[in-house]
Amino acid sequence: MTRRFDQLVSDLREVSLMASIQSTLEWDEQVMMPPGGASHRADQKAWLARTMHARQTNPAFGEALVGAEQEHAADPSNGEEGALLRQARRSYDRAVKLPGSLVEELARTTAHAHHAWVDARKANEPSRFAPWLGRIIDLKKQQAACLAGPGQGTYDVLVDEFEPGETTAHLREIFGALRAPLVDLVGRVASSGRRPPVEVLAKQWPVAAQEALGREAAKALGYDFERGRLDVSVHPFSISLGPGDSRITTRYTADRFEGAFFGVMHETGHALYEQGLPSDRWGTPLGEAVSLGVHESQSRLWENLVGRSRAFWRYFYPKAVAAFPEALAGVREEQFVAAVNAIAPSEIRVEADEATYNLHILLRFEIEQALMDGSLRPDDVPQAWNDALHAMLGVRPSSDARGCLQDVHWSGGAIGYFPTYTLGNLFSAQLFEAAKRDLGDLDGQFERGEFTPLREWLRQHVHRHGQRYTPQELLTRATGAAPSVEPLLAHLRRKAAEVYGV
Ligand code: ZN
Repeated sequence: MTRRFDQLVSDLREVSLMASIQSTLEWDEQVMMPPGGASHRADQKAWLARTMHARQTNPAFGEALVGAEQEHAADPSNGEEGALLRQARRSYDRAVKLPGSLVEELARTTAHAHHAWVDARKANEPSRFAPWLGRIIDLKKQQAACLAGPGQGTYDVLVDEFEPGETTAHLREIFGALRAPLVDLVGRVASSGRRPPVEVLAKQWPVAAQEALGREAAKALGYDFERGRLDVSVHPFSISLGPGDSRITTRYTADRFEGAFFGVMHETGHALYEQGLPSDRWGTPLGEAVSLGVHESQSRLWENLVGRSRAFWRYFYPKAVAAFPEALAGVREEQFVAAVNAIAPSEIRVEADEATYNLHILLRFEIEQALMDGSLRPDDVPQAWNDALHAMLGVRPSSDARGCLQDVHWSGGAIGYFPTYTLGNLFSAQLFEAAKRDLGDLDGQFERGEFTPLREWLRQHVHRHGQRYTPQELLTRATGAAPSVEPLLAHLRRKAAEVYGV
């Protein structure tokens, strides 16, 4: 007799198949599709989303879940099975609690809002986007009301969607502990009188050489090109189309080296996580990444903790010089390493350095809460944004396009998403510290181009578990301590001491 648990797994895999078809369409849309395909692609995606939601909320699926839960209750010895059921229950409950009409309304509104945001940004007129932001906030409030569990406030629900188990109160605690030390650090760096030679990066970097070097770096870190590929897209991203197919993208500009190179390192980190998930669990929660924060910890670890380290460049700088003989002629390795580690306040989040980056996130975290609790109106966002940025970093955006309109997230309904970036930064430093304790001389390994021990450590402690544990449990098991701000602050202070002598 087939166990009901097996029936559930086969149902889950069917939904995952649909999701992977969605990913295939998504990748094609962003990398390959000609503009003329947009309208038909929207129809394809809408149909697939509807069909998938119907499949997920099918009473037969609910029955399979209840049956499997009963089986498990009779013999709860298998922890993996329990974790799979916990996660399947979470997704199912969320899907059935949301009325189809609200799902559809959100999809329609965000599709229009996205275009309004693109227009508003181009015209530098936030008032063109504000009404859409207002509508999205209303819909997100409705969504939160449907999904709220006991004791959960509106913003808690939104955050929990991206980072299961995370709460507003805990995020406030984290940001509270980060703010003063970061502002202090950035201030000390500014008044140090030292300035890394960033002009060594103001060169021409032939795109073909950038691409070749990016590939070489991804390969060195262990990205498997037999099970992935690197392409170009307007907004860089990583995406899995199924087991054995985890792709990444980047974008190149000839006058900038760091954007594409560290972008490739970042997306490679995401893809290494996907390539490290257990493929025999594919299609179930045990074969999926656990949260956005943990995902971001993987990208940030390879991009920043590894990719901006002296040790990495001890190994990789000769390759960079070979790739860019003109741009790097006469540039010493230390100059280059100092330049890619410069700390300076700026207006754009995605271009921010490691230290100021989290202040950009804190700003968004505060504004999002104010928008959700009604204390800030969408029309007043530009002013609030500019004042907050000035208070934290001492700079004012040169335009609203480069201020409150710079990010795509809100137009897509992703409110409560930003904090996961800072969680990722915290987790990356904490995981790196733990890996260093276990693996010894990581710097020596990097200098020799040995990245396998670190990658295998991450596979062992993070990747292979899928959603077996909650993000908080996973971190605690991997590092021996609950998530904390200290490892990140220690890392940033070390870096400021190295580069600025403060
Ligand atoms: Zn990322």
